[in-house]
Amino acid sequence: MTDPRPTRLASEVPFDRDGAHRGFVRLFHSVHESAYGFIPIPIVVLRNGEGPTALLISGNHGDEYEGQVALCRLVQTLDVSRIRGRVIVFPLANQPAGLAGRRTSPIDGGNLNRSFPGDPDGTVTQQIAHFLSTVLLPMADLVVDLHSGGSSLVYVPSALCRLPEEASAAASALRYLKAFGAPIAYLPSPSQGTGDDRTLNGTVARSGRIAIGTELGGGGTVTPAALRLAERGVRNLLVELGILPESDRQPGEAPTRILEVGGDAWFVYAPEPGVFEPLVELGEEVAAGQPAAKIWFPETPWRAPETVRFLRDGFVLCRRQPGRTARGDCLFHLGTDTGL
Ligand code: ZN
Repeated sequence: MTDPRPTRLASEVPFDRDGAHRGFVRLFHSVHESAYGFIPIPIVVLRNGEGPTALLISGNHGDEYEGQVALCRLVQTLDVSRIRGRVIVFPLANQPAGLAGRRTSPIDGGNLNRSFPGDPDGTVTQQIAHFLSTVLLPMADLVVDLHSGGSSLVYVPSALCRLPEEASAAASALRYLKAFGAPIAYLPSPSQGTGDDRTLNGTVARSGRIAIGTELGGGGTVTPAALRLAERGVRNLLVELGILPESDRQPGEAPTRILEVGGDAWFVYAPEPGVFEPLVELGEEVAAGQPAAKIWFPETPWRAPETVRFLRDGFVLCRRQPGRTARGDCLFHLGTDTGL
């Protein structure tokens, strides 16, 4: 159920008027340096008559840049006269985290994608989550939330989706996941203690609607390949939704291989603090028991390294980026074929 309490954020741009509207959502933030100031969260609304609505989000995590660049490029190239319906672009969702180049907000430490459904009277990050939950998400027929590995992880560039429970909605979600056109896509599990209840995708799935996510790469940077995949994928989703004409569709080079990330056995964690030496590459097929990494101890250089092993067979979808590693850091996670 949607929170009945109204948002305290105010959009400078209208949502129901034809044309291209650019401006900011104002999050009022009264601090020592600025008594009546607001945090300007950029928003673009393109509308051309009646039709479906796509909500395109990046910067949910501030250090995931591929989606931010892809949506800047889209905002500067998408001709409003060519669309049918509405495209809402919210490209720096956690604006304070984005400006800081960090996963989480420097103001309240908030991780936006663990803050749903949010709170209109809460911290800055909780207020953004509540605005998304109660204002932007309910308008959308399709939500696209562009993530990547950020500073601490690197992914095989991929699309993902939490399938809604209802069968026809799940079939539609699979159709959108394939339409994105990534070589690899995956169905995540509510693992790592997050459950489904605090993420944006989980919030959308619970409402019975469809959110397509991505893990576009990561390592705290942008690559040409990840950017191409993101731009093509977003436009393909707009075609699939009927907002852009069919002639704009750019199919992927191969059919999408859909994997699942089933739970704890798909993950490899560091057992001790030290320096992480990966023993496999992203995109490799590995077997249960195969060595995944060594943890070295340069502060005690004569100590033998610890070897960490994969718990099951799978495709290496994600690995940790920094070498220095603490006990409990995720080093790898796998995906396994679904046959979907
Ligand atoms: Zn993210």
